[in-house]
Amino acid sequence: MTALKANIFSIQRFSIQDGPGIRTTVFFKGCPLKCKWCSNPESQNQYTELFFREQKCQACGSCVEVCRENAVSLNNEKAAINRSLCNNCMECVDVCCSGALETTGQLMDLETVFEEVMRDSLFYQNSNGGVTLSGGEPLSQPEFALELLKRCKQKSLDTTVDTCGFVSWETFEKVLPYTDRILFDLKHLDSSDHLEGTAVKNEIILENLRKILKTDNTQLWIRIPVIFGYNDSTDHFIRITDHLKRLRIEKVSLLAYHQWGAPKYGYLGKDYPLQQTESPSQDKMESLKEIMEEGGLSVTIGY
Ligand code: SF4
Ligand code: SF4
Repeated sequence: MTALKANIFSIQRFSIQDGPGIRTTVFFKGCPLKCKWCSNPESQNQYTELFFREQKCQACGSCVEVCRENAVSLNNEKAAINRSLCNNCMECVDVCCSGALETTGQLMDLETVFEEVMRDSLFYQNSNGGVTLSGGEPLSQPEFALELLKRCKQKSLDTTVDTCGFVSWETFEKVLPYTDRILFDLKHLDSSDHLEGTAVKNEIILENLRKILKTDNTQLWIRIPVIFGYNDSTDHFIRITDHLKRLRIEKVSLLAYHQWGAPKYGYLGKDYPLQQTESPSQDKMESLKEIMEEGGLSVTIGY
């Protein structure tokens, strides 16, 4: 029988921002959304990709020699990758002496991921922490996510799933019995604006949100990325507050947009879509928090 595998791009131990207590966060590759502000562009495609950090390149030429697709050349004392020819075979990574070439994402089997998660089980117990599945969209690799959650529950670990919500209801129905908490990202209430910012409409997401709230035993925390000039208007926040209030949401986190992920677009040979967009000021974040609190919601800035 073939072992169940998923493409994982990071396993972060001692995470304190993805649910309560000390946690291990497993980052899955692959996401149905393409948010313009995404700070993990390496999470969007489900396959292993090539990272190239040009500043580290020492122009040794080994990658040019090894590449069977003629996808690399040396220009101005640095390697240059033609992404349209590259097939992500990763042979150049093995010969790169400087660490300029790296893979992002690897196929991992369930046993290996679970063993990694169990390394910190003592810390989870002492801090009321546990395990978070994030990404990308963890439920875009649903079988693996489900089995990992089941294994965690067999060991009585606290489980959290961080989701964009654009997932089939059948998948949610399967994972919810093994999930203590859902971190549900909400980006925009208007479907056309949602499409513009994320490349998908929001009807499925809002419908899933309503359905999850009807299930027992799974907490739901809302997370809203605040993007300057996109979703941060007073009017929009008044409407989101009304919407969440009607749904009896318990907790909302406002996450200020930042550009920390911008260099990674370059490592993947992509343009960064929000080059000119600033982070919202602390005053702006406080004013949006106030709007939501006046509407009766419990709100934090940050996690
Ligand atoms: S990943 Fe493979 S195809 Fe792409 S540049 Fe490296 S060796 Fe060439
Ligand atoms: S193998 Fe690495 S250091 Fe050498 S030219 Fe290629 S990217 Fe640069």
